[in-house]
Amino acid sequence: MKDTRTLQLRAQQAANTHSCPICRSDGVHLFMEVRQAPIYCNVLWETREAAMAAPRGDMTLGYCPTCSHVYNYAFDPSLMDYSQEYENSLHFSGRFQQYATDLTQRLIERYNLRGKDIVEIGCGKGDFLRQICRAGDNRGVGFDKSFVPDPVRDALDPNVRFVVDFFGAAYAHEPADLIVCRHVLEHIEDPRAFIADLRRVIGNHRCPVVYFEVPNALWTLRDLGIWDIIYEHCSYFSPASLVHLFETSGFETLDVREEFGGQFLAIEARPASGSVPLSAQMRLDFDCMMRDVTAFGDNYRAKVAHWRARLSALAEQRRRVVVWGAGSKGVTFLNVFHDQGAIEYVVDINPRKQGKYVAGSGQQVVEPAFLRSYQPEVVIVMNALYVDEIRQMLSALDVTATVESV
Ligand SMILES: [Zn+2]
Repeated sequence: MKDTRTLQLRAQQAANTHSCPICRSDGVHLFMEVRQAPIYCNVLWETREAAMAAPRGDMTLGYCPTCSHVYNYAFDPSLMDYSQEYENSLHFSGRFQQYATDLTQRLIERYNLRGKDIVEIGCGKGDFLRQICRAGDNRGVGFDKSFVPDPVRDALDPNVRFVVDFFGAAYAHEPADLIVCRHVLEHIEDPRAFIADLRRVIGNHRCPVVYFEVPNALWTLRDLGIWDIIYEHCSYFSPASLVHLFETSGFETLDVREEFGGQFLAIEARPASGSVPLSAQMRLDFDCMMRDVTAFGDNYRAKVAHWRARLSALAEQRRRVVVWGAGSKGVTFLNVFHDQGAIEYVVDINPRKQGKYVAGSGQQVVEPAFLRSYQPEVVIVMNALYVDEIRQMLSALDVTATVESV
């Protein structure tokens, strides 16, 4: 969810054995394959030609029954190269802003974060860090290799600093009462090495709360969040695999919870001094996960068949159809149906995306106001949580299109 981000994934390559990145087990169960997906869903392109020629890779999802983790067995880190153009901020949405506000308040209350020190790893443009520092009068340091200083904006938050680097041993001296890392872990090929490094950097002389947030594999599997399967995500965490990772890396779990309508998974943990027995209740996930994983492949194919038929019908009727949302869900959706020809434009409220082109499928991203003249007949919304917000905007633009949620 970071605005811009560079992750040195190549530096974290595991010995490419395809074993589970969390528990290192080899007993993986492969259950779904997507061929030639665009490598970067969140990089938009300046021209349609460049967008259509965007690099692609194969995905083979595997499930590890030992720790209940899902990962891309076919992931090839040599294809990845995050750049400054990486753009996937959700902070333009009111629904998402409300979530971020609620989260900062909850963390401040629960851990008494007032006048404290906050470190954020992979802070993007720093929206969340600025918010939690303002709300609790905290001091903040954000780390992001792709952070671009903005003197005007930065002057508004004198208690917040940004470091254009990866967080690591060189910054072990930074005080931290809370270490935050949101929507980064799923991009890292070897999350086990990443969390072990973090534990070493924290050391044994202090005890910050660590807060990690990732997409929730349970939601993706159960609610058929099939458009969330993207190449950039090496890992899909379940509560069990997230807890397994932290508890076998020197942390004790304070809380693990579903957030944002169940779409996110958050863990709150703190360094443990000795070894931690694995939380027993996590075993409950396992049977359900195996069943969901087994059903997911069939469900994926059924959903794709449904939308393929729907888009073909719309194309035959020469209806004007737009997709709303040029985030990873929208890009994945457009690419699965890139040969359907029904969809000419994709709408996004993020001005940094407007005017650019979608990787692989090549649609131009337009601002909502464009719809006033284009007058689409069908608007396909990629995230049902935003439907009300989008209906209001369409109504304000005098657009009377049918709204369909994927
Ligand atoms: Zn595992």
